[in-house]
Amino acid sequence: MRIPHYTATAEFTRFIRCLPKTETHLHLEGSTPIELLQELDPQRFGSPPPFWSPGFRYSSFDQFMALYEDYCQSFYQSAQRYHDAARIVLATCAEQGARYVETSFHLPGLAGVRESGPEVVAAILEAAPAGLEVRVFAGMCHNDYAAHGPLIEAALGWERLAGIDLHGPEYWRMEPWTIDVWRRAREAGKLTKAHAGEFMPAPFVRWVLDNLGVRRIEHGVRSVEDPGLVRHLARERITLDVCPISNVKLAVQGVDSMAGHPIRALFDAGVPVTVNSDDTFFFGNRLEEEYFALHQELGFSKEELARIALNGIEIALLDPARKQALVAEWRDVVTAEGLDLAVAMGSNRLVV
Ligand SMILES: [Zn+2]
Repeated sequence: MRIPHYTATAEFTRFIRCLPKTETHLHLEGSTPIELLQELDPQRFGSPPPFWSPGFRYSSFDQFMALYEDYCQSFYQSAQRYHDAARIVLATCAEQGARYVETSFHLPGLAGVRESGPEVVAAILEAAPAGLEVRVFAGMCHNDYAAHGPLIEAALGWERLAGIDLHGPEYWRMEPWTIDVWRRAREAGKLTKAHAGEFMPAPFVRWVLDNLGVRRIEHGVRSVEDPGLVRHLARERITLDVCPISNVKLAVQGVDSMAGHPIRALFDAGVPVTVNSDDTFFFGNRLEEEYFALHQELGFSKEELARIALNGIEIALLDPARKQALVAEWRDVVTAEGLDLAVAMGSNRLVV
């Protein structure tokens, strides 16, 4: 019942699926499988949600958040529910050729769950199909500390949690606790990320880099407004986990259409970018469609798409031997497809 945003020839689809890829910007709750919601309420979810209509764009992020609360939030009442959702979401990633996934869940949502945080993290991890590497991140908003401080502090010590991510609307006033918590998370061995440059302009990306110390920006597309920042991201190899279809659907400033998406300019300037699906329930998208979109509307060649897949492998939290094996597999696919390996490796690098 989902109408795809992009389709490709059987040959191109095969190429994208066999390319070893990553998905490093995926919200579990925002990707709740509709079949699970249908089981609970067949009446309401018997037909596609209105936001799956072709051409639908959210009027604001507030509208998006209201729909998120309405459709998905109450689903997550137990570790089992996280497991059930993750099982389908992760299998969907794997069937499209994803080999490594970073998924986040909203940490304050655990307040209504009987099991402990570590049990929820384990439930998500144990839902991964064989052969798919999964890392779980806890997301939180700038204003969550007052109500959820003890939970946030506890999460920094959860062994199986890979890291933390700053979620939520960037236009809320930043609270200073984030600076200390992000620093301590890294000291505790966690990877830190932050959403920035989606709704707020380039100076907010700089703020996040300078104050939260992250080297992974979720979205970050509005960095393109500041050429100095673009050069900095490229030089420092700070990765933007970009979600092109999401940006179009949420009418992010500067993204009037896929054909004008700034990922082309960022890629050409040497900023390491990955492509991801963000919230598959709310955008009705699949990971491979993001690759189709870049090819069809932004002229990305197969070599360039392969480079994007390699960017994801390079940032993956994998031990060196596993990463090397995945890079070798990537190289084998690129070669077997008859692509120019040097072009694939060399594109998206800063030319100085
Ligand atoms: Zn996101």
